Amino acid sequence: MGNFKGKLVVKKELTYDVIQFDIEVEPGFQHKSGQFIMVDVLDGKEPKARRAYSITTRGGVDNKFSLIVKILPDGRGSRFLAGLDVGAELSLSGPFGHFVFDENPKKNIVFIATGTGIAPINAMIEENKGGTLFWGLRHAKDIFWAEKYKDLDLKLTLSKPEGDWTGLVGRVTEIVPKTAMDFENIRVYMCGNKSMTDEMKQYLLANGVPPEDIKFEIF
Ligand SMILES: Cc1cc2nc3c(=O)[nH]c(=O)nc-3n(C[C@H](O)[C@H](O)[C@H](O)COP(=O)(O)OP(=O)(O)OC[C@H]3O[C@@H](n4cnc5c(N)ncnc54)[C@H](O)[C@@H]3O)c2cc1C
Repeated sequence: MGNFKGKLVVKKELTYDVIQFDIEVEPGFQHKSGQFIMVDVLDGKEPKARRAYSITTRGGVDNKFSLIVKILPDGRGSRFLAGLDVGAELSLSGPFGHFVFDENPKKNIVFIATGTGIAPINAMIEENKGGTLFWGLRHAKDIFWAEKYKDLDLKLTLSKPEGDWTGLVGRVTEIVPKTAMDFENIRVYMCGNKSMTDEMKQYLLANGVPPEDIKFEIF
């Protein structure tokens, strides 16, 4: 679709540092679950900047989609978005990316995400409506959307839990190897930082998961 305009129609705080932005675009916008768009950072500063954000709503033809963005204290793009009011116009391009959900009903789907790496994974979950989800966050205050995933085999883990947390503890890279899996029969989609995706990829390859069944996006 190239360059296009969007209008911010909903801005919702999901946690203290993650905001959901619902954006309305011209009818005809089409993306695949897992793809991202580029947002022009219209803050008046030079040099001009653009930032990538995964579309967190499932693919298809629609005139509305959502992003979820972690707001960084000195982050130029995320602070620009955080400062927008509902009704603001956005300058966008895309969709881009090869991290897309290709349904293979013969394999069990395993999703692995850390932090806002859940964004493209959520789009895929909306499409697949099943599977195992490993989701790593730091603190209990970082949790959002967990109730959305109650019909999945959700393994939500905190790396720095507070005292009263009774769920899984540790990084996803520690939790995944402790979980029994039928390695020959899974397709893995993961999104997070490079060290997580690298470590998980090595682990999965070492256990015989074919490279074509390991798909990932790095934030
Ligand atoms: C394909 C793709 C999809 C993505 N999807 C998402 C998504 O869905 N949600 C999401 O939240 N993010 C996503 N990202 C990340 C996003 O593109 C941005 O990188 C992120 O929002 C940070 O951008 P920023 O402009 O806010 O921070 P930046 O201005 O780029 O700064 C990044 C960090 O560096 C620090 N920093 C900046 N300048 C300096 C300096 N001079 N010295 C030292 N430190 C400095 C800042 O404090 C900040 O912590 C995605 C990235 C990719 C590649």
